[in-house]
Amino acid sequence: MINLEDPKKFKALVGQAHQVAMNMLRPISRKYDLAEHEYPKELDMLAAMIDGLSESGASEGAGATGVRRDRTEEGPNVPVANGANLASVMSVAEMCWGDVGLLLSMPRQGLGNSAIASVADDEQLQRFDGVWAGMAITEPEFGSDSAKIRTTAVKDGDHYVLNGEKIFVTSGDRADHIVVWATLDKDLGRAAIKSFVVAKGTPGMEVERLEHKLGIRGSDTATIRFENCRVPAENLLGSPEIDAKQGFAGAMATFDNTRPLVAAMAVGCARASLDLTRDLLQQAGIAVDYDRPAHTQVAAAARFLQMEADWEAAYLLTLQAAWMADNRQPNSLEASMAKAKAGRVGSDVTLGCVELCGYVGYSETELLEKWARDSKILDIFEGTQQIQQLIVARRVLGLSSAELK
Ligand SMILES: Cc1cc2nc3c(=O)[nH]c(=O)nc-3n(C[C@H](O)[C@H](O)[C@H](O)COP(=O)(O)OP(=O)(O)OC[C@H]3O[C@@H](n4cnc5c(N)ncnc54)[C@H](O)[C@@H]3O)c2cc1C
Repeated sequence: MINLEDPKKFKALVGQAHQVAMNMLRPISRKYDLAEHEYPKELDMLAAMIDGLSESGASEGAGATGVRRDRTEEGPNVPVANGANLASVMSVAEMCWGDVGLLLSMPRQGLGNSAIASVADDEQLQRFDGVWAGMAITEPEFGSDSAKIRTTAVKDGDHYVLNGEKIFVTSGDRADHIVVWATLDKDLGRAAIKSFVVAKGTPGMEVERLEHKLGIRGSDTATIRFENCRVPAENLLGSPEIDAKQGFAGAMATFDNTRPLVAAMAVGCARASLDLTRDLLQQAGIAVDYDRPAHTQVAAAARFLQMEADWEAAYLLTLQAAWMADNRQPNSLEASMAKAKAGRVGSDVTLGCVELCGYVGYSETELLEKWARDSKILDIFEGTQQIQQLIVARRVLGLSSAELK
């Protein structure tokens, strides 16, 4: 097993995140798995602590709001070795070692916050500082192919008027803002798709229902309808111009930062399963020996080592994608590679651990069965396994989305 040391400057942050995961998230993990749709009020105190750390600068951008691309205190486009993106993926992985659903419910750390951090201008960053934002892309007619967006945004004076329906919005009920993807002109295709920050309570915006789900039950997933919902024009993120040359690139840039985060969630959840499984195997008299080749050990230990090697590959790809973002290197390919690998490893490892631990893995006395349920979504949202593979293939082969579908 390769053993890379964490950057020294993140040791305190990662250690704190691990303590929070162990002492604050794990103890309430089963409670909110069973009490689906009940707000985990314990998270308010935790979010206040994270805000305090952010204000003091001690957190180095931990959490979704940390993912920034083109601005640093040193100035735009100045590479920062081991910066906010790396800090975010490392702390997110630790928190998901505690509980993925609860991490997704953390106030002010929504995926919409990453979108704001990625594409907002300086004035917007200031104005939306401290909000809690979900992200609404998916609609009843599409999931993977976001170019098919039907929600419309029509300019009317100094407002845009939104009409349409968004489904499966994570934190769609609890967040105080939603970043909504809508088209300025359906005939102009991908280039006309823009994102808008909509404050909860804006007339014309209504949460219609909450989903019941296989996993991440601690996180709310909402259907939201927009009917003549007037949003201030200055809430359009980025440029209002429809630039056919840039196409979808502006809005899609969000994914370069959020995919490594979702990969980190899978890494954290799978790590939790591996750690517990190793302990349970040990208790059953099967010691995993890291100093001997896997094929010379008993089958259960060999399988465990194989899963751990797969996990390590996912972890390293995730760190690489985030490190590249910190160093201002284009990382779309690596972000998709990390998401594809970690998404698959998350599911394979957590289910493999259930298998290795038999009835203990399958029953509710341990959290192994829950982690197997929780990890599945990480291979679906922010682009499914198949879509990530498609993106990787297009980039490696130099083909456009029209050439390889
Ligand atoms: C719990 C949960 C939370 C979510 N949170 C959010 C959120 O916060 N915001 C948001 O906007 N959305 C969210 N989503 C939606 C999620 O992003 C979509 O479910 C996802 O993008 C897949 O879309 P789909 O479900 O419509 O599947 P489809 O796009 O219909 O795909 C179905 C299957 O076909 C495969 N497929 C599709 N196209 C291709 C292709 N070209 N080649 C090969 N295979 C293909 C897919 O990989 C998948 O296996 C959430 C979903 C869930 C379940």
